[in-house]
Amino acid sequence: MTDSLIDALQAKHLRDLKPYESARRLFSGGQDWLNANESPFVGEYNLDSRKLNRYPDCQPKAVIQAYAAYAGVTPEQVLVSRGADEGIELLIRAFCDAGQDSILICPPTYGMYAISAETFNVKVNKAPLNADFSLNLDAMAEFVGKVKVVFICSPNNPTGTQVAPEQIEQALALFAGSALVAVDEAYIEFAQGQGWAGQLANYPNLVVLRTLSKAFGLAGIRCGFTLASPAIIQVLLKAIAPYPLAEPVAQIAAQALSPQGLAWMQEKVEVLNVLRQRLQDQLQPLGDFVRVGDCQANFILLRSQYKQGLMDDLVAQGILIRDQSKQLGLENCLRISIGTEEQNQRLVAAMQRFFEEKAI
Ligand SMILES: *Cc1c(COP(=O)(O)O)cnc(C)c1O
Repeated sequence: MTDSLIDALQAKHLRDLKPYESARRLFSGGQDWLNANESPFVGEYNLDSRKLNRYPDCQPKAVIQAYAAYAGVTPEQVLVSRGADEGIELLIRAFCDAGQDSILICPPTYGMYAISAETFNVKVNKAPLNADFSLNLDAMAEFVGKVKVVFICSPNNPTGTQVAPEQIEQALALFAGSALVAVDEAYIEFAQGQGWAGQLANYPNLVVLRTLSKAFGLAGIRCGFTLASPAIIQVLLKAIAPYPLAEPVAQIAAQALSPQGLAWMQEKVEVLNVLRQRLQDQLQPLGDFVRVGDCQANFILLRSQYKQGLMDDLVAQGILIRDQSKQLGLENCLRISIGTEEQNQRLVAAMQRFFEEKAI
């Protein structure tokens, strides 16, 4: 087949779509990966191969029950999927009619909401955050009745800010009769607040997204959770693949959610929160850095007018951080995931050299 035939066959809405520029697609080399908010720590897990000849459970009970207990919800309120990204995709596919319905996002925020919607020919409306990264509820109110799913990221990637509980409550009330409000809590373990899982019974339109990719150090297994009313979960189960979770993934997830697994995760979160503060204290005096947003997650966001030179310099040394300057309101901003103490110190040393040579 010729390329022109493939172009002609390709679904119309995909023609101008650029794939998500994941950290791993942008840079595959390097040694210090501080660009994808992964954990620098990895646990140890056992694999029992005796069931690998069988198709896995769609929703493995051990995983569902363990996550429900961890999140303080009932098993009927939990859906497990191939990462939180699949949870986002399922919400869009299960609740939006392609070519007709819309979602609402509040940029600057996580990129997959828009990409996922565009992939399914669902329109993306935007109510940008205020300058202090709080929700602009007046702007959001304009979209009541016009969107099916509202995505709120808290703690927000890449600003590290948490949305005030009163604001989430107002958003839930605003869209009570017309849309789901999905609160993406991928970083909740690093944050001070409680999160919204405990509120599911009070808000029928509330959805909470969670993941094992960040605090649990398991980005490689692709495992995430959608917490919502049983009615919402049942609709998502209509749209999910028959075997979304490979058997080894289910086994590892169950171990990560065991009492020992949870204790390991909590210890690492404490370590990373200390390292984050230390890194921030060390970086700030080095150059012209201005801290942007807050630190309720495992990364920091800094603005520097030298961001391009800095990025290039770091990449040349195998240190990868993430350019966020294309995001709304985040000109010249760089996001740095917290690594091990050694990785953070290599980053500090590299940045120190960079600014010394610049002599600023
Ligand atoms: C990393 C991230 C996710 C994706 O989680 P996966 O479980 O790895 O798919 C979702 N939301 C936000 C805000 C993230 O930063």
